[in-house]
Amino acid sequence: MRRDFLVFGSPLIEQPEIEEVVASMKSGWLGTGPKVHKFEEMYKKYKGSKYAMAVNSCTAALHLSLLAIGIKPGDEVIVPTMTFTSTASVVIHTGGIPVFADCKKDTMNIDPEDIKRKITPRTKAIIPVHFAGRACEMDAIMDIAERHNLRVIEDCAHAIETEYHGKQAGTFGDLGCFSFYVTKNIVTGEGGMAITDNEEYSSTIKIMALHGMSKDAWKRFGDSGYKHYQVLYAGYKYNMMDLQAAIGIHQLPRVDHQWKRRQEIWNMYNEAFKDLPVFTPAPVESDTKHAYHLYNLLLDIERLKISRDDFLDMMTKRNIGIGVHYVALHLHPFYQNAFGYKIGGLPNAEWVSERTVSIPLSAKLTDEDVEYVIEAVNSILTLNLS
Ligand SMILES: *Cc1c(COP(=O)(O)O)cnc(C)c1O
Repeated sequence: MRRDFLVFGSPLIEQPEIEEVVASMKSGWLGTGPKVHKFEEMYKKYKGSKYAMAVNSCTAALHLSLLAIGIKPGDEVIVPTMTFTSTASVVIHTGGIPVFADCKKDTMNIDPEDIKRKITPRTKAIIPVHFAGRACEMDAIMDIAERHNLRVIEDCAHAIETEYHGKQAGTFGDLGCFSFYVTKNIVTGEGGMAITDNEEYSSTIKIMALHGMSKDAWKRFGDSGYKHYQVLYAGYKYNMMDLQAAIGIHQLPRVDHQWKRRQEIWNMYNEAFKDLPVFTPAPVESDTKHAYHLYNLLLDIERLKISRDDFLDMMTKRNIGIGVHYVALHLHPFYQNAFGYKIGGLPNAEWVSERTVSIPLSAKLTDEDVEYVIEAVNSILTLNLS
């Protein structure tokens, strides 16, 4: 039994970002400034997009992206039910209506066939989520979007490194939104980024992220002298700080290194669990790159005498942090009360919701940590066969 708790999704923080944060503190420039600008430049080069707009969360990036494409009260936006709440709550913040589509059982990604079924005359956009870092079926999704004149915003919170048919995730749709939250593949504490090739979207997001003030208002206290700004909209306070970008500019260059380590762990897990009563992740589709953000096991509960929640408790008792990604959104009280969703409507996501568990997958894990997790999963499941 390990003595310390293995924190789920604990980030790998190294000396250069620690020093950079300290340097920001000493410089006195904590807020949006040159380091945010540098991080944006690095990020758009990394993703190959024309514009990158740093904000303080992926949720903010998604919200501003919906405003940029012009979502208005009453507009419908199709989102997967198998996702984090903010993919859908941001639609509500614009006055729009999130319409849930089911996922596929094996990939947990949104099912293009169900997107088609959910389209109405009020549908304006789709937000596909590259679940766990696995690319969605972007050919099919972009084809549907084109036929029905829908905008596409990719929720890339899990998908910093994801590629599909030689193209970067986040560059298929009108905009792509990324998260640098503490558990994500690159971290800034809290933080997010929207990318696009559309200049108008880019400038709307820049302006709306900082109080609706005219572009470059963040420079008004710089050494080139005070600059007047104009308030153009009732904007938001979504800007990223230099303190956050200070972490990001050192995390981003290590993105491939950390990805390789997570791939190694992923392969160790696949090998270790192949004969257990679980469904391990579906093989990575050819001509795609998986970001290996989450390792989900789907417990084969028909062959076990414990439930998924029992399994969570047993892992916690062994000092292992675990996650559930996700209990589908339409099963939560808010979405049921607000939109009348009931159990039974989105069967694949419900099936996953009952069985899924995410085990630690972080570049910070040592081989011993990984072996400890493997041993725990192994013994819990083999001792509880029905
Ligand atoms: C983490 C996450 C978000 C939100 O990201 P924040 O940066 O925490 O706002 C959105 N969508 C998905 C799928 C996520 O996992």
